Amino acid sequence: MSEQPRSRRQTRAAILGHLLRSGGMFRPPLARAVRLSEASLSRILFDLKAEGLIEEVRRPAPYVGGPTGLVSLDPSVALAALELTGQWLSVGVGGLSGELHVTERLPLPKRPTVESVGKVFSEALTLLRDWTRRRRIRLAQIGVTVPGLGRLSISGNPIIPCDVDDISDMLGEMFAGVPVEFTNSVVGHATFHRCRTKDYPFSGAHLFVFVGQGVAGAWMDDAVEGDALQPIELGHMVFGTEGPRCRCGHHGCVEAYTSHPALAELLGVSEAKLLQLGNDWVNTIRISSPVRGELRQRLFRLGLAIGNTLNVKPCRGVAISGWPSLLSEDDRNAVVDGIDACLLGGRKLAQVSLAFVPPSTGNDPNAALAFAAFCLASRGGMPAAATEAA
Ligand SMILES: [Zn+2]
Repeated sequence: MSEQPRSRRQTRAAILGHLLRSGGMFRPPLARAVRLSEASLSRILFDLKAEGLIEEVRRPAPYVGGPTGLVSLDPSVALAALELTGQWLSVGVGGLSGELHVTERLPLPKRPTVESVGKVFSEALTLLRDWTRRRRIRLAQIGVTVPGLGRLSISGNPIIPCDVDDISDMLGEMFAGVPVEFTNSVVGHATFHRCRTKDYPFSGAHLFVFVGQGVAGAWMDDAVEGDALQPIELGHMVFGTEGPRCRCGHHGCVEAYTSHPALAELLGVSEAKLLQLGNDWVNTIRISSPVRGELRQRLFRLGLAIGNTLNVKPCRGVAISGWPSLLSEDDRNAVVDGIDACLLGGRKLAQVSLAFVPPSTGNDPNAALAFAAFCLASRGGMPAAATEAA
């Protein structure tokens, strides 16, 4: 962590970030984690409590010196989540701890276009406005996740056609004054795992890889200064120009071999069927040995793509989420072998530890909700455009 002076916003963001990732902390460890004296922490907690962002329950502490206050995020803060997937647009209202109060999935047409996806967004926002009006809910943040956002081209969206500027205008008109953030789905899933997965294997800087509709990654960092989450492309490394066509226009991209749609094709089922089976597909669908051989070869390529990414920017931890996490260790070892084959001297020499975390595909809009909570925490619970002296 940097020792530079922090602004009030950054200090508040550090506190809220720790509470978001931990689910609640006692005052003394929280003060240490954010490098504040207990007196300074106390003053900031007083403000955060007055603003309805945190709550504190007196509890016996699990160490000498208790009892003290267990500080956690206030469950009454309302966030809206919109998560676009290949099949539908998920919309929901939930809280800072990840509980969803109301949710709905609006199906996308078979062949979505910018216009038809815009229409589905408009329906979802109308629904959201009705819910919040009827329940007199004041939204503190809206988070929107879109697969492939910001990649390949600025104007086009190669996974699901949609016009983010248009949707952003709609949100501005219907929810004036509520901060809205858009992000790539991989960032949503990365945030979800970092904040909601019990015993998440890494803290600090690491790489999160998500194998879903596409194959993407995010550099993760718990620091509040700078970009804590940066989406990256790793799905379009080409492993043979004779390979299957990828939607980016090339042939043989790792994504064309290992994305969720590619997996469905390899297994001989429709993608909708695969999604419907959820995590159970791994026990339901019989995999013949030639298919298993091909599957492992594809996983090896995924490993090569991850290894290449680590060669470009070394880092100590890699969390892999998506369908590969469901496989047996023997199958998953193909990914590890691919990484080893790519890193000069192998994974041990490079001191990279790997962890497979469960897939979060199909639990929408939880990733968008986690992202909304992350956005609120990152701005220290303060108005988005506020400027202030450090
Ligand atoms: Zn590609």
